[in-house]
Amino acid sequence: MIEAKAVNHIGIAVHSIDAQRDYYERILGARLESIEEVAEQRVRVAFYLLGGSQCPVRLEILEPTAADSPIAAFIEKRGEGVHHVAYTVDDIAARLAMLKSVGVRLIDERPRIGAHQAQIAFLHPKSTGGVLTELCQPSAAATKPAPLAGGARH
Ligand code: ZN
Repeated sequence: MIEAKAVNHIGIAVHSIDAQRDYYERILGARLESIEEVAEQRVRVAFYLLGGSQCPVRLEILEPTAADSPIAAFIEKRGEGVHHVAYTVDDIAARLAMLKSVGVRLIDERPRIGAHQAQIAFLHPKSTGGVLTELCQPSAAATKPAPLAGGARH
């Protein structure tokens, strides 16, 4: 079992982040966290946060930076829109091995490093009811709770 703890983020493919900023910021009211380029994937990525600290939801807006980007191929085939759903998991390497052993098709057999230093891996939509699915294990540094008062501080 994947034992997803939460929806980590929703990935959305667009032609142009700049062309969509008005929608996400002024109409939807999401807070822009960062825009970064992931050269290896040939994408520019804008991260938006919605909701309070109790239940934040993150959107990952993906813009291709080259004609051979996987996001360019997706938009060409399906148009702009929802690209993938990412779930928060722990023990990602063990989960991938288990999924493989039961015949789930994996795009990434081993976790790789994604945005925010998270370990990520994609499952093939043929095995997930048509939804490109990302497993995401946030980096320990990003999830470590603040030290308790009186504890060692670094
Ligand atoms: Zn993602």
